[in-house]
Amino acid sequence: MSTNQYDVVVVGAGNAALCAAIAARENNARVLVLERAPESEKGGNSYFTAGGFRFTHDGLDDVCKDVLIDLSEAERNQMVLPSHTRQFFYEQLMEVTNNQSDEDLAWLLIDGSRPAMAWLRSHGIRFLPMFGRQSFLVDGKHHFYGGVNIEAVGGGAGLIEAELRRVEKLGIDIRYGTAAIGLIQDRSRVVTGVTVRSKEGYAEIQCKAVILACGGFESNPAMRVQYLGQGWDLCRVRGTRHNMGEGIKMALEIGARPYGNWSGATPANGTSPLRRTVTAGPGQLPETLLPAGRDGQPELRALCR
Ligand SMILES: Cc1cc2nc3c(=O)[nH]c(=O)nc-3n(C[C@H](O)[C@H](O)[C@H](O)COP(=O)(O)OP(=O)(O)OC[C@H]3O[C@@H](n4cnc5c(N)ncnc54)[C@H](O)[C@@H]3O)c2cc1C
Repeated sequence: MSTNQYDVVVVGAGNAALCAAIAARENNARVLVLERAPESEKGGNSYFTAGGFRFTHDGLDDVCKDVLIDLSEAERNQMVLPSHTRQFFYEQLMEVTNNQSDEDLAWLLIDGSRPAMAWLRSHGIRFLPMFGRQSFLVDGKHHFYGGVNIEAVGGGAGLIEAELRRVEKLGIDIRYGTAAIGLIQDRSRVVTGVTVRSKEGYAEIQCKAVILACGGFESNPAMRVQYLGQGWDLCRVRGTRHNMGEGIKMALEIGARPYGNWSGATPANGTSPLRRTVTAGPGQLPETLLPAGRDGQPELRALCR
């Protein structure tokens, strides 16, 4: 069966996909969101996060203009929020990537970060200062540090729920339990649609543009071994079980050029040399590997942050 009622098909329904869907609808496109997971497992890895955001700003007065617009005067008077400059953001990015970040993409991210927050707020996503995690109390005031100081109300779950409310309000269709498995091209290799798999079987959906926002290969043991190396199949994934690398495969199948760091693993929780929390490959892979060899046997466990 082939349908042709959408301009844009967005693959995935995590934070990236839902933002893309809202942005496309804002530009008057007819949008369909395809989500591999059933509705009961919605939200991808985005759902598991604290919903913390890093973005550039000039301090409290600045963010209160269009991001933290719900704060009372009394709450504002209890906070000290240092500015987060472009240069600081850039230095942090380069530090955690060993200076390997693509310069152009880094600045695109940095310069888009402040408007993105105001844009999200304009679509009904509410934010709070991270009082519990990212501040310390001095003389009755919360002093914030570290750069990730603002979170979505309700964390990652709250972020997704708020975005889904917006998606519904804008009349964007979502099909859960429907995985995109291939990109359709015409004779001149222009992408004209997507092949999907659901309980009902296989189908083709025609459209003018496909946005792949369906995570990385973190849930796929075979791809983890392929790109990260031996042993990575034994990790337990802390987030969604649905990010199987299908978006990456679909893109490669039609000739996309592999780019960036495919074998990267960034220790983020390194209290022990044996304990690693990683973000890996072209997608996000936050997992924890603990090969603490009791009795000489590797022992792999998921840890909570
Ligand atoms: C425990 C934890 C805490 C984290 N905390 C933070 C934090 O506080 N702040 C932060 O910035 N980052 C955090 N991260 C990282 C963050 O989760 C990711 O960077 C972010 O969620 C990626 O968003 P995404 O929309 O690209 O992917 P996801 O949210 O993973 O969404 C991908 C979606 O695509 C769907 N999908 C996959 N394949 C297909 C297919 N073939 N067809 C259709 N749909 C498909 C999946 O089911 C999923 O819903 C955390 C991660 C974890 C696991």
